[in-house]
Amino acid sequence: MRFLVTALLAGLGVCNMAAQKAAPKVTSVRMYVFDCGRLKSGNPQPLLDRGVTTTDMSVAAYLIVHPRGTLLWDTGVIPDELIQPGGTTEARATVQKTLLGQLAEIGYQPSDITYLALSHNHYDHSANANEFAGSTWLVQRTERAAMFPETPPKNQNPNTARFAALKDSKTKLLDGDYDVFGDGSVVIISTPGHTPGHQSLFVNLKKAGPVLLSGDLYHYPAERTLKDFTPFGNLGNSGQEAVSKAKVEALLKEKKAALWIQHDIIADAQLKKSPAYYE
Ligand SMILES: [Zn+2]
Repeated sequence: MRFLVTALLAGLGVCNMAAQKAAPKVTSVRMYVFDCGRLKSGNPQPLLDRGVTTTDMSVAAYLIVHPRGTLLWDTGVIPDELIQPGGTTEARATVQKTLLGQLAEIGYQPSDITYLALSHNHYDHSANANEFAGSTWLVQRTERAAMFPETPPKNQNPNTARFAALKDSKTKLLDGDYDVFGDGSVVIISTPGHTPGHQSLFVNLKKAGPVLLSGDLYHYPAERTLKDFTPFGNLGNSGQEAVSKAKVEALLKEKKAALWIQHDIIADAQLKKSPAYYE
């Protein structure tokens, strides 16, 4: 029995040794990339029509470790408790590894996460949010209002249960950009449009250089080159999204930063995944 439990945990990426490992102390910013699975496009035809040949999307989460604390950015598409050894498919998503297992592998428990920030509330970014309800939640005021409306709609999306615990989290309400650790190295960039309080994340890494995590400001690289191509524009406020894109493009230029499109499965495959990290 004990072997079976250990084997099961190992299958989920939670091996005993890793769970006991202590979180490392850092002297400079580092960033881990977690594999949170892949997502099939619900409507690939318009993408194929515009020359996007790979329409599947990656799902990633990121841990930023700063000398003053930690920030988890996004939380995956399927809750950990539903992930079976060998992988689980739910609707259009397939996930092999648990988020908590990947965190444990590098020595982090949810209680080690100082801040939680979601790029936005959609189900493919918020699946494990409840696990981090004990962290301080960094959220745009407009996003929180959309997530927890005073009068919840009659036919509420069942996925909202997956972030319901955040309602009682210690919360820092944001009204725009926010410098998380106060030294300019990790900055939440307000990029509304896709959702009312969508946000992106600027991370200045000493060796790897400055990086901007897109959230869902973009899903595919083609959205940057084909200016009239907004395959998900119908989901939110496309006018606001266009303003956010212009803001981010200017920022990328000014900071000479690389844009990491979180759903870009081709680029994501090239990234080193945790336990390796960028610094
Ligand atoms: Zn997404």
